[in-house]
Amino acid sequence: MAHGGNIPAPDSPHKSGSADGQAGTALVSSRPTLPAPIGRRLLLDTKNKMQPIDTCCFAVRGALYHCPVKGEFEHHADALVQVDAEGTIIDLTPASAPGYAELCQALADAGKLTELTPGQYLMPGMVDLHVHAPQWPQAGKGLDLPLYDWLQDYTFPLEARFEDPEFARQVYPHLVNALLANGTTSAVYFATVHNPASLILAETCLALGQRGYVGKINMDDASQCPPYYIETTDQGLADTEAFIQQVRALPGNEQQLVNPVITPRFVPSCTPEMLKGLGELAQRYHCHVQTHCSESDWARDYSLEHYGQSDVEIYRDMGLLGSRTILAHSIFLSDEDMVAIRDAQAAIAHCPLSNMYFANAAMKTREVLDGDLQVGLGTDLAGAPIPSVFHTCLDAVNHSRVREDGTDTHRPASERGEAGSRISFLDAYWMATVGGGLAIDAKVGLLAPGYAFDALVVDANAQDSDLYLPEGMDSPRDVLEKLICLTRRHNIRTVWVQGRKVISK
Ligand SMILES: [Zn+2]
Repeated sequence: MAHGGNIPAPDSPHKSGSADGQAGTALVSSRPTLPAPIGRRLLLDTKNKMQPIDTCCFAVRGALYHCPVKGEFEHHADALVQVDAEGTIIDLTPASAPGYAELCQALADAGKLTELTPGQYLMPGMVDLHVHAPQWPQAGKGLDLPLYDWLQDYTFPLEARFEDPEFARQVYPHLVNALLANGTTSAVYFATVHNPASLILAETCLALGQRGYVGKINMDDASQCPPYYIETTDQGLADTEAFIQQVRALPGNEQQLVNPVITPRFVPSCTPEMLKGLGELAQRYHCHVQTHCSESDWARDYSLEHYGQSDVEIYRDMGLLGSRTILAHSIFLSDEDMVAIRDAQAAIAHCPLSNMYFANAAMKTREVLDGDLQVGLGTDLAGAPIPSVFHTCLDAVNHSRVREDGTDTHRPASERGEAGSRISFLDAYWMATVGGGLAIDAKVGLLAPGYAFDALVVDANAQDSDLYLPEGMDSPRDVLEKLICLTRRHNIRTVWVQGRKVISK
């Protein structure tokens, strides 16, 4: 049998997302591997009343949503989240807990309580696993071109401009602020080949308070890279090692909010010597790794032709496939590739909208989720133009639905698509939060004790809101699906990263 472990064959049956509207309905049986939550540390005084935890720095009270289990969700109409001075959640207290009102009053008296208003929802921050930071100025341009033309005409000339650090100082703050304002608390970035500009991106994340994973790109194969945008193998490896050290030593980065990422652009842009050298750096520095993986027919065929292997096999043999690896796209995966990714505990960045432009095929999202591979979402700016992981959730659902139904009207419905391949909005939202957190190896994506307080407040009553939540008409699941589909930048009132308020309006 070609596929091993629990990886299902492409046509295997599974439980698909139902539209029953029941809160907490289990759609898939598999559970993510999450660290066990720490125990409750509520303090009781002599009269047995609940008191704020002594290390509580501030607390937020209101309605909240998150997805502790893949395909399910947890909702509280009223709950309290306490956060310590390090920005870590120390308790989630439901309103049903004894002494809840007194606890909230004590926090209010101490000036530590933020209370949400009706129509506001506390949610985990979004994780964007794939962003090309230097492409921000081209977002929305030329996306009806073939990939080769798009790269040659727009992307490479633009990325080459980042040789000038001043250009980086102009572009990167605008991008990082736009992502934070859209609720993206963690972002995994491709920068460019240039060390100074890539370091400016890392400094920008740190200054604006975003959890950033920043990669100086490597591309040294003269047959595939334009002559004006290439590095030598030796210089590229030396620059990468220096970049790792520089990011880790940035002043103010003691909590490692910003992390260096080893970033071979993709197999065709790198020589085997470069890939091997980067693999050695990944092992030596225990670094995150990101790259593109089997994104298109051309990329898949290039690897088979030049190495006789798939991208996954090449990265594995070069020492680049590990528990800190993020593989963007991963469209053309064999069953063996999927097993290798799962066994290595590497993660996939699913980029549904850019896949529709450039991937030539649909992502096997259902199989990846059911096979217990780590997977999160990426906007893939600017291979897709929209800087919102909320929107990416919608794209992921749309992508799976088109795949399930198919498109060729000359075929009968039964032969048109791939039955049973749809995903639910809860699956998508889980990928955007918990799945992303697992991919970056950070305790983010849940509003649970021990997790970083990376969170946002969505306000359905913001001015010009498209979120319409008429009283008594929506179940908790209905509301969450609406929040996923219709949250826009102006609905996001407040954003915290590691307990620091980075957006407030
Ligand atoms: Zn990409």
